[in-house]
Amino acid sequence: MRIGFGYDVHRFGPGRSVRIGGVTIAHDRGVVAHSDGDVLLHALMDAILGAAGLGDIGLHFPPGDPRYAGADSRELLRAVVKLAGERGLAVGNCDLTLVAEAPRIGPHRASIVANVAADLGITPDRVNVKATTAEGLGAIGRGEGLAGHAAVLLV
Ligand code: MG
Repeated sequence: MRIGFGYDVHRFGPGRSVRIGGVTIAHDRGVVAHSDGDVLLHALMDAILGAAGLGDIGLHFPPGDPRYAGADSRELLRAVVKLAGERGLAVGNCDLTLVAEAPRIGPHRASIVANVAADLGITPDRVNVKATTAEGLGAIGRGEGLAGHAAVLLV
């Protein structure tokens, strides 16, 4: 068994929706990012790569590489799962936390869990998605962006 942790943050910018856990959620702003800016999936990918001893997503999908402009993070996640699989590792379970004042993901939680479970090739009961606010503290508390944290166990 190997444990991994991942973290990602993106700044809000122009736009009318954000991608969180592979779900497009209406919001009064978008996210500034080279890819689709999905903080939850980016944190998860870094957690998997970390647990597998494979570096981080910047190493595998360099920001600024035109191949990943606007990339669908679910596709990148599946590629990361494949890389771990080549090392004989699969995800046992994962625990994801979104930190944002808005949008609220409660209504989308089941869809996010279903997306992540499908991409990891595991059952939904092995995927946990949590959300919290920053209680108005700091940049995220001021609503300038959102962050994702992920813990994962590879077996
Ligand atoms: Mg990112």
